[in-house]
Amino acid sequence: MGDGTSVNSDGPEVSITGLETPDAKIKITKWLSEKGLGKASVQYKLRDWLFSRQRYWGEPIPIVHCPACGTIPVPEQDLPLRLPEMTDYTPSGSAEPPLAKAADWVNCKCPKCGGSAKRETNTMPQWAGSCWYYLRYIDPTNPEVFVAREKESYWMPVDLYVGGAEHAVLHLLYSRFWHKVLFDLGLVSTPEPFMKLVNQGMILGEDNQKMSKSRGNVINPDDVVKQYGADSFRLYEMFMGPLEMTKPWSTAGVEGVYRFLGKVWRLFIDREGRLHANIVSRVPDAAELRSLHRAIKKVTDDLEELRMNTAISALMIFVNEVSSHADHSREILEKFLLLLAPFAPHLAEELWLMLGHDKTLAYAEWPGYDAKYLVEDEVEMAILVGGKVRTKMTVPSALGEEEVKKMAVEQPRIREFLAGKTVVKIIVVPKRTVNLVVKDA
Ligand SMILES: [Zn+2]
Repeated sequence: MGDGTSVNSDGPEVSITGLETPDAKIKITKWLSEKGLGKASVQYKLRDWLFSRQRYWGEPIPIVHCPACGTIPVPEQDLPLRLPEMTDYTPSGSAEPPLAKAADWVNCKCPKCGGSAKRETNTMPQWAGSCWYYLRYIDPTNPEVFVAREKESYWMPVDLYVGGAEHAVLHLLYSRFWHKVLFDLGLVSTPEPFMKLVNQGMILGEDNQKMSKSRGNVINPDDVVKQYGADSFRLYEMFMGPLEMTKPWSTAGVEGVYRFLGKVWRLFIDREGRLHANIVSRVPDAAELRSLHRAIKKVTDDLEELRMNTAISALMIFVNEVSSHADHSREILEKFLLLLAPFAPHLAEELWLMLGHDKTLAYAEWPGYDAKYLVEDEVEMAILVGGKVRTKMTVPSALGEEEVKKMAVEQPRIREFLAGKTVVKIIVVPKRTVNLVVKDA
């Protein structure tokens, strides 16, 4: 794609064959507006953007002002131009930026004629850096170019950009604009810098108001980390609700995830701080496989869709299901740790090492799931009223006795039989029958 010369583009009323794209666009829009079928319009314009700032902090602008030659760019071999060390970088009180006070730095030789010249003393705005930092992150120490070509084409474009909604308009518009300029210059390989943007919701104070000093409802992450640890903080933020949603902070909620992490710890580690003796190297049983593979599927799918909160719920369900088992297949618990790692990396890594691994779990492969373990096991049960089979129902084989009883009396056919009668007793033969003993009301 891109511009080119049109071919085979002769319509009955207008032809653009042989025209370059810009001319073809003009001719088509002119024809459309003459016909009253449409008109050219500008979707949006980048407004002029004042680039200079009168402050010390900011990238210095690599321009030299020469009385003889005018404005001359600093030659490439002298880049990057660095800020001078200054003890006093406060505003000068005049219109002169603070850099004007750094006489040794300001006074220089003109790169063109060698005569006395002065450096530009304005600096760039913050956005000068934020427009392209993602490119430099790929290759941050490269002294030759802003990013090596092979690294750039390997990593770019950015798969996912998560940021506050306040970034959505200006920052993204400008960084896209810079990127498109770099693309047109052949310096980057993709026309767009970001594939997907997600605006995360704001976290409000516990009083449901925007956090602010004056309201006194600010939660300091450092305090939470100090009390509950970084994993609890991180896990709670992800567990609070859908990523895009604005939601209030709840310290009680942090307690909840903190308790969950404690439960995970106790699943692996005994009171003496050693790996539990009931973690054994054996073939996983059916119940373990079902719990694990369900968790793998849910966490994998949810991560893809950034549904961190429901992924964490799946991890909680897994831990609840296996906690009551007498012993644990080591293989099952290891895979669980890999699922936990994106959410509680410190704890997961610690337990991974305690299981005897000498390398970080970051290099371990993400576990896959087998669909055959996702199928619910079901059984058919006969329901008897007054000693005779009246109907059958299909229930999950793992359903508890009380649930089975409840389900049985709610079957429409059974409700008919129970009209005008009182249930005296219900006898459940697991996975086989439910027997309702009744008498007339
Ligand atoms: Zn000069």
